[in-house]
Amino acid sequence: MRLAKLEIALQDWAGTPCGCGRSAGHVAEDLLRIAQGQARSAVGALEGHAWSVPVLFLPAPAVTSVALAALADDIPPEARDQFLDLLLYMVAGDGTDFEGAARGLDLPALCRDIAAQGLWLLYREVASGRSVPAAGTAFEILTVVETNRARLHRVRDNSGELLPGHCRSGLCDDEWPADEGKN
Ligand SMILES: [Zn+2]
Ligand SMILES: [Zn+2]
Repeated sequence: MRLAKLEIALQDWAGTPCGCGRSAGHVAEDLLRIAQGQARSAVGALEGHAWSVPVLFLPAPAVTSVALAALADDIPPEARDQFLDLLLYMVAGDGTDFEGAARGLDLPALCRDIAAQGLWLLYREVASGRSVPAAGTAFEILTVVETNRARLHRVRDNSGELLPGHCRSGLCDDEWPADEGKN
């Protein structure tokens, strides 16, 4: 759990206002618990703090960075699933909260840029055969952050049973506003 822990330590939680109105220090503690496989639901723990559909709150970019570090790390499989779920929320944000907007930030764009840095971590999750639902989540994150649609569709069309039916059908590509691809 080295990389996730280091990335959590690197971020300025105390100086970041949380979506709940407190400082985001408690988000760091939640992320640590998730990385240790001790959290039941990462999405449940951080909703209202890192995001509230459809907007993202100020801790969102740091949460996105930690989720990627965790995917690169050696963590329990349940923790990996949780961070993938979390990452999907971070890239699916459709607006910036009042406080972030007042600072001139575009939080969804920031989170997508960070997530795009982990492109091959996400492809690895699809190709690994570890878990079909997790591969589906990784693929759905890719449908938002992958600019090379030919690559995305090539992987989709060659992944067979590694991907759930909804992803293989092409439906998941169309659900996201970021997708300009046509099937
Ligand atoms: Zn909070
Ligand atoms: Zn899907």
